[in-house]
Amino acid sequence: KPALKKHTFEAEVAQLLHLVTHSLYSNSDIFVRELVSNASDACDKLRFEATNDDSLYEDDGELRIRIAVDEDAKTITFIDNGIGMNEADAIENLGTIAKSGTKAFLDKLSESQKQDGQLIGQFGVGFYSGFIVSDTISVETRKAGDTADKGVRWVSDGTGVFTVEPITKAERGTSITLHLKEQYSEGEDSYLDRGKIKQLVNKYSDHISLPIQMRKEIWQEDIADGEDDSDENAAPTGGEMVLTDEWETINKASALWTRSASEIEDDEYVDFYKNITYDMDAPLTWTHNRVEGRVQYTQLLYIPKKAPVDLYTREQQHGLKLYVKRVFIMDDAEQLLPMYLRFVKGVIDSADLPLNVSREILQESRDVKSIRDGNARRILTLLASLANSEDSDKQAKFAEFYAEFGDVIKEGVGEDMGNQERIAKLLRYATSTQDGETTSFEDYKARMKDGQKAIYYLTTDNIAAAKNSPQLELFKKKGIEVILMTSRVDEWAMNFLTAFDETPLQNIAKGAVDLGDLQDEAEKAEAEKAEETLKPVVDKLKVALGERAKDVKVSTRLVDSPACLVVGEGELSPQMIQMLKQMGQ
Ligand code: ADP
Ligand code: MG
Repeated sequence: KPALKKHTFEAEVAQLLHLVTHSLYSNSDIFVRELVSNASDACDKLRFEATNDDSLYEDDGELRIRIAVDEDAKTITFIDNGIGMNEADAIENLGTIAKSGTKAFLDKLSESQKQDGQLIGQFGVGFYSGFIVSDTISVETRKAGDTADKGVRWVSDGTGVFTVEPITKAERGTSITLHLKEQYSEGEDSYLDRGKIKQLVNKYSDHISLPIQMRKEIWQEDIADGEDDSDENAAPTGGEMVLTDEWETINKASALWTRSASEIEDDEYVDFYKNITYDMDAPLTWTHNRVEGRVQYTQLLYIPKKAPVDLYTREQQHGLKLYVKRVFIMDDAEQLLPMYLRFVKGVIDSADLPLNVSREILQESRDVKSIRDGNARRILTLLASLANSEDSDKQAKFAEFYAEFGDVIKEGVGEDMGNQERIAKLLRYATSTQDGETTSFEDYKARMKDGQKAIYYLTTDNIAAAKNSPQLELFKKKGIEVILMTSRVDEWAMNFLTAFDETPLQNIAKGAVDLGDLQDEAEKAEAEKAEETLKPVVDKLKVALGERAKDVKVSTRLVDSPACLVVGEGELSPQMIQMLKQMGQ
């Protein structure tokens, strides 16, 4: 008779198990996610192996995950028909920490942090999370391709040891039975509640592309009274829910983003968007790609039609839904997008991030940075394709986008130096000769006068103030177009943008405006003369203004107005000072 063999856990596993059982009780739900994810991985592995060897399917090619609840035995069982394990696999995979992620996590936690259940709860702990809720776990498994007598039963109470014994198992794959602790098998925290398990599956694993099934329940009428039930006025008879032998699929079993973009209808994209955002409106546009770079991931990014009311408050929730191999990890992963793209919604699914990734880890990860850069690029490319399109629908979409989010992307000019040029190309302004925010720097450059060496702009509070500004007089007279910037962020953003496509940008309200070749010799001579004749006036003004003015100069920039205020080069403009005051600085 084959003997039951006793094994001791690797030291690190014992340490992890101790942590799990002592610190993770506040996150007990995660075992559902972890065990479903392992079952899904096992099916993925089988599918992969079977590409070379069809016989591994053993005439059962429909991969699926099943969850069975047994109220009498107080157990919950996760059953898959994936790759399965032989004895050596079970000892190795369930008795040691093979995966580097968990090892690194353990190393990272200092002793004091180990007391902190909150922190630890943000990490996944894989298979061992089962021990949060159960006092014994029993795994029955048989590897695909092995004969039925090569099955294994692995049992542990999660303290220091586990046992392994051979069994006969007809079905390929793994079934993991959790014997629930008393606390988790009765009352509010009970996982014997099938509805609760369904909810958890929906929350964490709805996008697992395999069917996840539970036993079908039907309502069975009480037939004890034997009365004629055709009487519609009769009081409803009693009855109860009974479990059938039939399995029903409880998840949608298809992760939209894992499907090929060419096979997805627009309606499906729109429905999915509404589903993840609770937005009633359809999105403005979206982009869906598989990225195969240093990090592999799928991105499905949406631009909403309307900005949320809290777009400019710091507390605004933003970021993307993060999945790892179709397993839900977190909402609002803000590290996946730069701040100035905080209005973008969607999903990132990467096979390269560990399942136990936390927000802290995301912050430091180079892979995440590479995903964030990829996302920013993709959104900017999408916007550029709308902006530069010949198609009037797309142009209209860009205008719609710009009206809602134009000010937010301006923040990117200062925030994302790597994409500054790309962002600058998307900016649109009114000008002294063009109404409406439709002029790009490119358009402006195309209309520049011969000999004009700079892109001139003026920042004010509103368009009326801009148009009547004395600073504009000379430019009007000479027929030089000036970009009129009226948004609060313009002034700030322009601090970071000194040139566009090698043409310097010049604020006409700051410092001396050198019109260069646009100023003719006669004008220069006239200006020099004026400076001389007006010297006594200027000196008087200097004395009269005293501390209130840094300097008084004769200017050529005015045509009709007698005087105007100018800010020195590199100093804060009145708008900027006001903005900083409003921000409380
Ligand atoms: P991870 O999934 O990150 O590798 P886990 O702790 O979740 O870590 O699982 C440990 C290992 O146990 C897995 O890598 C796998 O080899 C094995 N395993 C767990 N569950 C199953 C299963 N249902 N079928 C086959 N192997 C499994
Ligand atoms: Mg796992």
